[in-house]
Amino acid sequence: MIEPPITIAALRRRIANQLRAGWGDDSAQRPALDAKLLVAHALGADAQNLTLRDDETVPDHVVLAAEALARRRFRGEPVARIVGEREFWGLSFQLSPGTLVPRPDSETVVEAAVAEIRRRGLERPAVIDLGTGSGCILLATLSEVPGAFGVGTDRSEDAVRTARRNAARFGLENRSAFAVADWTAAIGGAFDVILSNPPYVDGDDLPALPVEVIHHDPRLALDGGADGLDHYRKIVPELGRLLKPGGFAIFEFGYRQAAMFSALARAHGWSPTLLRDLPGHDRAAVLTR
Ligand code: GLN
Repeated sequence: MIEPPITIAALRRRIANQLRAGWGDDSAQRPALDAKLLVAHALGADAQNLTLRDDETVPDHVVLAAEALARRRFRGEPVARIVGEREFWGLSFQLSPGTLVPRPDSETVVEAAVAEIRRRGLERPAVIDLGTGSGCILLATLSEVPGAFGVGTDRSEDAVRTARRNAARFGLENRSAFAVADWTAAIGGAFDVILSNPPYVDGDDLPALPVEVIHHDPRLALDGGADGLDHYRKIVPELGRLLKPGGFAIFEFGYRQAAMFSALARAHGWSPTLLRDLPGHDRAAVLTR
């Protein structure tokens, strides 16, 4: 059936209503925001400027494309995976199968890293991000500290390639290097700052993760072993070897792991200062000697 042409605003409302009808009252979902991002993607347009174009009419094939994207979204695929990118620290990061979708939680790490670098007056800090994924934590930090140089490592070659592409996207390719590595094995050197958001989901939580996460984020980036701390146990003992004297490390962890992580850090001679994320969970810690 041929319908009269509809406007961008009407298409956004139609997609939002389709999603809302499917999800019911699930308040964790954000149909209007998702609809905006999906319609922008179907149009090949920038979501930021979409409302300026609300009155333009949309060709039929874009309507069909947007509805197909909405069906993917409704089946549990995150918007970030569908559109292939996600905003973090005001930068748009490309994603790939080997990268976790950047979470707002990790902005806590960036904020603390930048504050600590400035507080210490470090003008050309050497920073390493272990398990860099899309590069979000490292590249956001470098974007705030013009003299910093960063290294990002990941077990996934796909993630390393994506992080490198993101560095080039933001003009940070001459201040960053990326390598495949198994945590600290084969890494030497004297860093001012170590950052890491390793996989920390524990054996009880892993099967209970939402479809958006368990079917679409790489398991390698989630699975932290029985109690979630397996990877911290590999990294924390190496910090002294990798940091310059007086250097510091910042780790992100799960919202119930602050006490266990702090005990591990103290056992290796580090003093943790806990940091809260926006919802108020202890989410990360700065480690100093
Ligand atoms: N924050 C992610 C989640 O909610 C887990 C990321 C990680 O393990 N580092 O599933």
